[in-house]
Amino acid sequence: MKAVVYESFSATPKIMNVEDPTPENHGVVIKVEATGVCRSDWHGWMRHDPDIVLPHVPGHEFAGIIEAVGKNVQGFKVGDRVTVPFVSGCGSCPECHGGNHQVCGNQTQPGFTHWGSFAEYVSIHHADVNLVTLPETIDFTTAASLGCRFVTSFRAVVDQGKVSAGQWVAVHGCGGVGLSAIMIANSIGANVIAVDVTDDKLELAKALGAYATINATNVADVAEAIKEITRGGAHVSIDALGHPTTCINSIKSLKKLGKHVQVGLLLAEQATPPIPMNLVIAHELEIIGSHGMQAFRYDAMLAMIKSGKLSPEKLLGQTISLEESIATLTNMDKINPPGVTIVTHF
Ligand SMILES: [Zn+2]
Ligand SMILES: [Zn+2]
Repeated sequence: MKAVVYESFSATPKIMNVEDPTPENHGVVIKVEATGVCRSDWHGWMRHDPDIVLPHVPGHEFAGIIEAVGKNVQGFKVGDRVTVPFVSGCGSCPECHGGNHQVCGNQTQPGFTHWGSFAEYVSIHHADVNLVTLPETIDFTTAASLGCRFVTSFRAVVDQGKVSAGQWVAVHGCGGVGLSAIMIANSIGANVIAVDVTDDKLELAKALGAYATINATNVADVAEAIKEITRGGAHVSIDALGHPTTCINSIKSLKKLGKHVQVGLLLAEQATPPIPMNLVIAHELEIIGSHGMQAFRYDAMLAMIKSGKLSPEKLLGQTISLEESIATLTNMDKINPPGVTIVTHF
């Protein structure tokens, strides 16, 4: 099969012909119809993720058609249209038994723990636990955009932030995660304040329902600006970028008893930001992590998509070819167009 392969970190990947994957007994092989290009792929390529073994194929947010099925798989067959959350659980550890596959101790992540979806085919483990059947109404390009940023935001806003109608929600960073969070929080009836450093992303945030926007380069203190708009602070604030500045701004922008949800990855030298624990104690703030979402929670999200409450297709950016994904990946820290870039030609 054709795949994007890198043989050393930070060196330009190549299109190569590699052996087709075969399914594990508990797994499937999926013919990739669409796959998103994500900042996590860039982090992996930069060696910010210690799990990656070279040579490697990136890609973790995709949708496609089952091509081959392992002999122990019960619930899926060749030809099924499916997607998977980027964290796949093992189905048999204490976390999985507790319904928390997103923090499985034996988790697999295509594009990190094994070869990913920047390829014609991708192998998925423990298929019965991790596959999600796609409704016919959702096309592959939109479905690919769900697997990482959209589901992560859904869990952050709905399951972890427990956002409710009328609350103030601040979203720091308006990339794919942030814009998804804005759409989801708005659909629940929250008043969302979007923060970014680029006006085009803030315009998109407004179009997706943000009540107010703040360009962080135009204000002296982002947290104070949020407190002014909300008259006291946000009930829930999300760092959707993953940077010490956005993390700390998010915590400082909370009202008393507020919740900070960390969604953006903090890696490498940014992994341990100086959290203002004095505020956490004095204001009884909650600091919550959010990491992917379980496959079984897709039903709630897909129902909101079906009813028209959520429109993930509005977050789509460019569609590109597998060849073009190389430049998109390697320039991710320099060129970052609005919306989710999806590979649709293989
Ligand atoms: Zn991703
Ligand atoms: Zn597990």
